Formats: sequence, structure tokens, C-alpha cells
Amino acid sequence: MKYSELHYERINVEESKKKMSLIVDRFTKADSAQDQINAIIEIDEFGRDYASYAAIASLNFSRNINDENAKAEKEYYDSIGPDMAECFNSFEIELNKSVYKKELSEKWGRKYLKDIEMSLETFDPKIKKMLKEETVLRNDYTKLTAGAKIEFDGEEYNLAGLGPFHSDFDRDTRKRSYEARFNWFSDNATELDDIYDKLVKLRHEIARTLGYENFIELGYKRMGRADYGPDEVANFRKQIVDRVVPVVQKLHEKKKEILGLDHLYVYDGINFKEGDPKPKGTPDELVNAARKMYGELSDETGEFFDMMIREELMDLVNRKGKSPGGFCTSFPKYDRPYIFSNFNGTDHDITVLTHEAGHAFQCYSSRKQPLMGYIWPTMEAAEIHSMSMEFFTWPWMDQFFKEETDRFKYKHIAGSLSFLPYGACVDHFQHWVYENPDVTPKERNQKWLDLESIYLPNRDYDDLQFPKNGGIWQGQLHIYQMPFYYIDYTLAQTCAFQFWIKNQNDSSKAWSDYVRLCKAGGSLTFTELVELAGLDLPFDDGCLDSVVGHVEKWLDGIDPKSL
Ligand SMILES: [Zn+2]
Repeated sequence: MKYSELHYERINVEESKKKMSLIVDRFTKADSAQDQINAIIEIDEFGRDYASYAAIASLNFSRNINDENAKAEKEYYDSIGPDMAECFNSFEIELNKSVYKKELSEKWGRKYLKDIEMSLETFDPKIKKMLKEETVLRNDYTKLTAGAKIEFDGEEYNLAGLGPFHSDFDRDTRKRSYEARFNWFSDNATELDDIYDKLVKLRHEIARTLGYENFIELGYKRMGRADYGPDEVANFRKQIVDRVVPVVQKLHEKKKEILGLDHLYVYDGINFKEGDPKPKGTPDELVNAARKMYGELSDETGEFFDMMIREELMDLVNRKGKSPGGFCTSFPKYDRPYIFSNFNGTDHDITVLTHEAGHAFQCYSSRKQPLMGYIWPTMEAAEIHSMSMEFFTWPWMDQFFKEETDRFKYKHIAGSLSFLPYGACVDHFQHWVYENPDVTPKERNQKWLDLESIYLPNRDYDDLQFPKNGGIWQGQLHIYQMPFYYIDYTLAQTCAFQFWIKNQNDSSKAWSDYVRLCKAGGSLTFTELVELAGLDLPFDDGCLDSVVGHVEKWLDGIDPKSL
């Protein structure tokens, strides 16, 4: 079936409550573990219906934000979210009291019950109203940023549309495009501050209502983090400062040489004088090259990518009315993932074809997992699949970048490493914000600048006033939308680099480890998945040091003049 043929409907809240209470009733009265298992499977099927329809509603809106019908469907699913959470919560409460926990654990592993415990700790009917307010504020941020209309050189752009100018080969164009971007942020700073201030205070209140000291512990539980906490994360960030920041500083010096500039400003984001490498070919040609690539990479990926094309499960090219960004979503009722992106002629188009396809491939590979909650792992594990796929496809990059392939690879590795301090900075900032929910927007900006001086000491904003005053974080949607979702990328990158190294030494072993990891989906915790894949845990002493050592050596071996 093609995407357009998938059945979609609105789930009715009242009917759902009735349905749920009947199953819960059967569950609580069950006099055998098997009867409880049967009830759980029924709930799981119902959960798949709900998740799939909600995902379709959200995706259709992203595909055309001007479609009133799609907008109404998305708003409907947004509005029923907290009621549906209450509906599932009523079941989880009973499940947590089950006398057959031992048998349920034997059936599905410890993680199932642990997930339920964590879910119970993140919800109470008392916070329903506040959750609705949180959704409204999140949507306010999306509406404001997605609706940006920015004048640049006589044309009107949105924030994503302005992106390619930020990496133009002409320095003046780059700087002016950043000026245009930051002028928009400056004009909207009060509203952006106001949305964030409300979100922080609201999340703090939600946490207090649930009995937490502040939002941090709750934020970790919302992310489903079962086996590490803020202390491990703080220690990991410290290792990034000690081990990665000096290497990034070295890259900074090298870049001056490559670009022939004495000093680099924030708008000198390009990697080569002539501009960054660009994919060669039309979007159709790129997809065809990707099809060939996945066919050659392995049988599993070949079958997967053919299906994605045949069933029209990708919407890749930028067009008017499309929401910005790239992501992978899924419809668990139909065992299918979907890739959404905005091709704009930059090397990012290829990264989408590898990164998001990594997510989608994992989702498809774990479709045989027995429970919906086992399809996707937690985010720091999910990003291993995507970021590692970016590396597994390296041998085919010449199909996309031709004579610029080495440049692409250099940019890819240098960029991936340089990302680590930025990711840690965003994470550190959020911990501070939720520890101090009552600070003023101005104090937040000052804290951002203080942290930047530790994690990103080379950043120089020149005379661009808005980021100079510490407001640049307002453009990072995760900070508004998904608190604490960011260190995930740095943990996953540390694992993906390990696959990159493994793949150089023994590619068939690396690939089989990867496929095993993908198939396991979310049936294990992050720590267990890392172990299953035969990787070192990023938190462990020596892991980051060893990984960065390899990457540094590779980068040192590249003579920029040869690129
Ligand atoms: Zn991703």
C-alpha cells in the first residue's frame, strides 16, 4: 500500500475511555498471567491505532501547513493528547499493581515494566490542564518561527530558505544573511523570551505537582532514561571540554589556513573557499543513486529502500507551504516509517538520505518487536542508527559528490566532532535553566554567553548584536520543544564514531553489529543496546578519549591543500 492509501481516522476520546475501561476491567480480574498478557496485547493494538493516526495527522500538516483540513486534524490530535495520556495512565496504574509481574517480565524482559513505572512517574490527571498549556506554547514557538518572513536581497525567505546563504562562498553574502536572520530574531526576541519563560515556569510547576524538586529529574524520565542521570551526563560534558574542545580549536586554526582568513567570525561557517561541496544531480537522480547505494550496501537495506520508494514513504524536496526541517516518523499499525525533508541543493540533502534513512531502517528492522514501545529506543540510542548510517554509506559518497567527495568526508568528520561541544553547551544551559526557573530572560542570555566561553571559546559574533547579547539559543528548537533532548546527539555521535572506526577495520562485522542493534529497537535500555552492539559506553572512562584520538589522527592526516 502507498502512504496515501493508509487508513486514517479521528480517535474518539469518550469511546476510547470506554474501550480502555473494559480492557482494564478484564486485566484486573484476570486469574492468569496469560489473560493479562492478552489484555496488554489489546492495549498495544489500540495504542498503535492512536499513534499511527496522530502521526499521519501531524505529518500531513507538515507536508502542507496551508491545508486547513490537515491543520484541523493536527489540532484535534494535539487537543486530545492529555486525555489520551490519562486513558493509558489508568491502565498503567493497574498494570503496576499486577500480581503477575514476574511472568510479564519473563515474557517481555525487565524493560517493559520499567517503562511503565517511568511513565507513571511522569503523569497524573492533576497535570492534564498544564500539559495542554505546554502543547499550546510549543505550537506558539513553531508558528512564530515557521512563519518568519525575511527580506533578503529583494526576495522573501523563511528561516530555512535563508540557510544556503549562510554558507555562501562570498563572505559579505554570508554576513548579510546572518544579519537578516538575527534582525528577525531581534524583532521577535520579546515574544520568544515570553514563550520560553512561560514554558520553563510551567514545566517547573508540572514537576512540583508531581512531587519533584524541579523539572530536571522529570525531564530525564520523560526522555525514558532508565540507566543514567545528570551526574553521568555532567561528567561526560566535562570530558568533552577537556578532550574535544582543544581538537576543535586545532581545526579552527586549520580552517583559517584553508579559507585564507586571519580571523574567523560566526558567519565563516563554510569549510572551503569555493563553498561547501554540493550534491551533483536533480532530486530524482539523487534518490536513484541512493536506491543503487542501498541495494549494494546489503540485502536488508536494498529491500527497505525499494519499499520506501514503492510505497511513497518519503517527501524529500523543499516546496512552498512545507514545514521546515527533516525527520523520520512512523505508523506502528502499518509497520512503516516515513522520511520528511527539505532538499535545498546543499550537502545536507545527502545527509538526510543517510541520517533519516538510518532512523527509518531501524524502525523497519524492529517491526517484529512484540510491543509498540519496543519499536523505537530512547533518543540517544536512536541517533546511533542514524549517525552510523551516515558513515556506513561513505563508500558510495562519490556517487553524490563526484570530485568533491574528499571534501565532503573532511567536512563530515570535522563537523561531527565540532558538534560535540555545541551539543554539550545546549545541554548544560538547559540544566541551569531548570535549576533556576525564576531567572530573567537577560540572565539566561548571560548564562548562555558564559557557557559559550567554555564550550565554544572561538566563537566571535563580530558586530552582530543579537547573538552578542546571548540570544542565539532561541533558534535551537529542541530547547523549546523537547527539553534535555540534545546530549543524545553527542552520546550517539560517540557511538557512531566507533562504528566508523570498526567499519574501517572489519566492515562485515561492523555491519552485522549494526543490524543486530537495529533489530533490537527499543527492547533494551541505552546501556544494554550499546553493549549488544559491541560498543564502549560513552560514559565509561577512556571511551571518549580513545574515540577522539582516532578521529584526531584521521584529521591530522589530511592535508587541506590536497582537498
Ligand atoms: Zn536523528
